[in-house]
Amino acid sequence: MKKITTLLVGIIILSCGTNQKVPGVDIQTKYATSITNTNLKTILYQLASDEFQGRKTGEDGQKIAAKYVADFYKTHSIEPPAGYPTYFQVIPKDFFRGESKGDSENVVAFIEGSEKPEEVLVITAHYDHLGKKGEKIFNGADDNGSGTSAVLMIAKAFQTAKNDGFGPKRSILFLNLTGEEEGLYGSEFYTSHPIFPLKQTVANLNIDMIGRIDDAHKDKSNYIYLIGDDKLSNELHTLSEETNKTYSKLELDYTYNDEKDPNRFYYRSDHYNFAKNKIPVIFYFSGVHEDYHKATDTADKIDYDLLAKRAQFVFYTAWEIANREGKLVLDK
Ligand SMILES: [Zn+2]
Repeated sequence: MKKITTLLVGIIILSCGTNQKVPGVDIQTKYATSITNTNLKTILYQLASDEFQGRKTGEDGQKIAAKYVADFYKTHSIEPPAGYPTYFQVIPKDFFRGESKGDSENVVAFIEGSEKPEEVLVITAHYDHLGKKGEKIFNGADDNGSGTSAVLMIAKAFQTAKNDGFGPKRSILFLNLTGEEEGLYGSEFYTSHPIFPLKQTVANLNIDMIGRIDDAHKDKSNYIYLIGDDKLSNELHTLSEETNKTYSKLELDYTYNDEKDPNRFYYRSDHYNFAKNKIPVIFYFSGVHEDYHKATDTADKIDYDLLAKRAQFVFYTAWEIANREGKLVLDK
């Protein structure tokens, strides 16, 4: 392992000089490209199937989804955090202030860092949705089957890299959140009952709805909205931009990062509970569409090629945060 690392550093320095990448040595690309449209589609069709009953917090569908997510981790030998009894962080019913019929759970999996295990990157997506209204099932394919399938495939890619001797230097917690639709409860619970100290939590990358194309991008769909990336750490913004330039080449749209934007998306998904605690965040989002929060948000409407590209971009960014020399600097 050491030998390859040294070789890689040498080649990277060389390649920086010539501004060209040497084929065959770009380790992270090998794992990023294991996140495919086909794999994501298989997972997303499950999550957004009628069997999962719209995954409403505290109800049967959400429990089925929680088990599906935990089983995925188990199948791929991605373990719960060391010393943690199961994949489930149970949240008592009372925490939901009357918005859940029973207890609910975040699902957690963990890959320990090889050099700085105490520093933790948290990758999140909520897996709950709106449930049923009468006969109508709200399958929540984009919201947030897209983010959930992405987190699972990102976790699998990191685990495969680790199995090959290329595990991340810092630890990564994969946190599948419940209770988002009712009011960001899963992330509120996690940040008030963290499994790892928030002081050692280096960043949160949150994925919520990345599978569609909104009206503003109908003719130029190679995009993603980024929100929050420069609010606490300029370094995170720069890292994200450079990662995109090198690997993903998406159009990074910052429209919703504007404090004056009336949608206020920065405050509307789970990353906000991390940002409140001075943890740098990036919220990945592809925008709202005509099926947003409707029973018509179904798996057949997802653009799987784009979903894969966006999930890969999150993977590349996570790889950089987890492996770079220094911890991200908070400068705001
Ligand atoms: Zn939603």
